[in-house]
Amino acid sequence: MRLLLIEDEKRMAQALCEILRLEKYEVDYCADGLQGLAAMESLIYDLIILDVMLPGMNGFEIAKRARKEGIHTPILMLTAKAELEDKVTGLDSGADDYLTKPFMTKELLARLRALSRRSVNSPDGTLAYGDIVLDTDTLTLSCTTTDQSVRLSEKEYRILEYLIVNQGRILTREQFAVKIWGFENEAEYNKVEVYMSFTRKKLSFVEAKTEIKAIRGIGYELRYGDV
Ligand code: CA
Repeated sequence: MRLLLIEDEKRMAQALCEILRLEKYEVDYCADGLQGLAAMESLIYDLIILDVMLPGMNGFEIAKRARKEGIHTPILMLTAKAELEDKVTGLDSGADDYLTKPFMTKELLARLRALSRRSVNSPDGTLAYGDIVLDTDTLTLSCTTTDQSVRLSEKEYRILEYLIVNQGRILTREQFAVKIWGFENEAEYNKVEVYMSFTRKKLSFVEAKTEIKAIRGIGYELRYGDV
């Protein structure tokens, strides 16, 4: 689970990073709102913790912009103010949950677990695109027109999940590498191609018309029909 923390209070951020890493989250940290938004746009995160009062751009605005750009990563918003008004603004802006400072570590971790369960699903709660459906419990890929299905390996599943959640976007090899394998070592990028071809074989096995299109020099995109 890769998590982005956008928080400008240094001590708070350090403490959170420590706690989250102990809980086995891979944590990246930004202290500035604009940098935070840019990091979100990399689409490699499973969860975002977003502070409200930030230099550069405030948390409400960041959440709003991200949603407008079609970034569906779950956001837990942190704020120092307890007013109900803030909560409403936070949720309206596109945050999925909201936590008031100061909070208990246990509470934060429980909220993150709840959000991470949500993060594997697309906004409407299903993982489907074109003529394919993914079963998140059994890691099964099915084709709705041929009624064929096949078990996926964990990596194949995560590749399709990542493509479906970000449908309509071209995702780069680097994004897949970081998101699915967690590495940023260029020498290992060919792993992405290998697994991409495994995943394509599964798509043809169920005779799906949905395909993973390679966009030369850029990355991959999910396509169905002429869309
Ligand atoms: Ca702050």
